[in-house]
Amino acid sequence: MTTSPPPPRSIAPAEGSARSPRRLADPEFHRLDSTSMRDRNRGMLLRRVWAAGETSRAELARETGLSRSAVSALVEPLLAVGLVREAGEGTSRGGRRPVVLAFQDDRFGILGVDLGATHVSVAATDLRGRVTAWRTTACAARERPAEALEAVRRLVAEVRAEANLGAADLLGVGVAVAAPVDPAHPGRFPPLFLPAWRETDLLRDLALPDDPPLLIDNDANLGALSESWWGAGRDGADLAFIKLGTGVGAGFVLDGHVHRGHGGAAGELGHLVIDPHGPRCVCGLQGCLTTLIGTEALLARARVLRAAAPSSLLPDGAISLDALIEAVEQGDPVARAVIAEAAEHLGQATAGLLNLLNPKTVVLGGRLATVGDALVLPLRTHIVQRSPWTAIANSRIVVSQLGDRDVALGAATQVLQAALVDPARFPVEWEV
Ligand SMILES: [Zn+2]
Repeated sequence: MTTSPPPPRSIAPAEGSARSPRRLADPEFHRLDSTSMRDRNRGMLLRRVWAAGETSRAELARETGLSRSAVSALVEPLLAVGLVREAGEGTSRGGRRPVVLAFQDDRFGILGVDLGATHVSVAATDLRGRVTAWRTTACAARERPAEALEAVRRLVAEVRAEANLGAADLLGVGVAVAAPVDPAHPGRFPPLFLPAWRETDLLRDLALPDDPPLLIDNDANLGALSESWWGAGRDGADLAFIKLGTGVGAGFVLDGHVHRGHGGAAGELGHLVIDPHGPRCVCGLQGCLTTLIGTEALLARARVLRAAAPSSLLPDGAISLDALIEAVEQGDPVARAVIAEAAEHLGQATAGLLNLLNPKTVVLGGRLATVGDALVLPLRTHIVQRSPWTAIANSRIVVSQLGDRDVALGAATQVLQAALVDPARFPVEWEV
């Protein structure tokens, strides 16, 4: 897939933002506070060139209030390291025709890894969110960390070969995981969610060739980031992303920043209790949303309803998510009833989310979201029934435009975002 975006309005976070992804996996976060004015201005100009795609020194001076000579001095090293290039002459606004400065989208590549519960996917992207290589494989990652890490290493090698990313071409690797990520220990995951990963530290154990910088975050957070940069949230408005998969999670982009919460556990929508008398959840509570609409719960429910409806298109016995989705698309009443029930449970949680945060856009991601209106329409009805009109009136609920690559693309995007905030992350020799 190739995305061909004009840049989003909410580009990188403000300089020194406390919510910057630097805080994840980066013990040198404090460096930002002592970054010199020159480095700050360099970052600011680089972000402006990136956001504009093409601009000029005069335009940058007008926008920033810096002098023409200061802008020229700051642009020089950006040209020298190849992040920006001169691309001919632009249109005159009265005086000399200005030299066009263009951001070099292909100067570096980024890898985004989606380490799901039952799959591993790896995307290579350029510096504009375009996917240049992609691999995905089924893998029991939740239960078998060693196999999952091996799959990541194999797919990374394949994607790097296809995208031609040598050690000097790689800006970094973003990893999305299906668990809350504690900023203080981003490589380790709560045993409650991933008991098999108890002894694993992703930062220590992934061991990729060339040892590229790793940034780790929760998959729903990165889905939200991805949608806000390249998808349904490109208008810069507040956005919530709901990941529907083996588990259920939510990520938020508020005022242009991923909202992670104090300990990285914001958005655990899947562990909102929907039915206090419902099934026991891995978290110890009963009737969490995940126990009702997580993939296993959905398929179990489909089997129960199918057993009472022999004419259903669903297979008798084991039902896969693919089979369920296909039956929904063919209009099978049993499959549609399963989705309608899921919509009711999800509606209860989403109504609460809208009441609390009032995002403009709610994006549904994960395989289940591909059923589209069969889920979205009943979901909207349930939300309206449970929300005061003020919370829902201006919100829209949409299915991810980025499809199954949204999370991997978001993982790569956090690496891009971090480098645009702090250009020292680019693997180049800054001469001045
Ligand atoms: Zn739970």
